Amino acid sequence: MTKPQCPICERRKCEKPYTPFCSKRCADVDLSRWLKGGYAIPGQPADQAEEAPSFPDADKQ
Ligand SMILES: [Zn+2]
Repeated sequence: MTKPQCPICERRKCEKPYTPFCSKRCADVDLSRWLKGGYAIPGQPADQAEEAPSFPDADKQ
């Protein structure tokens, strides 16, 4: 059983309170990627369907 690795450095395990990152450093790297608009997790396909519905009201009906 392996714990999830930090998606930024891909070397260290996730550590609280910085999960899913290993450290504040990697969390900052991730944040800067967000701000630059080039966010992407290597090895992980774009999957926005689960947490980013286009129409939040759709499932209320
Ligand atoms: Zn890391």
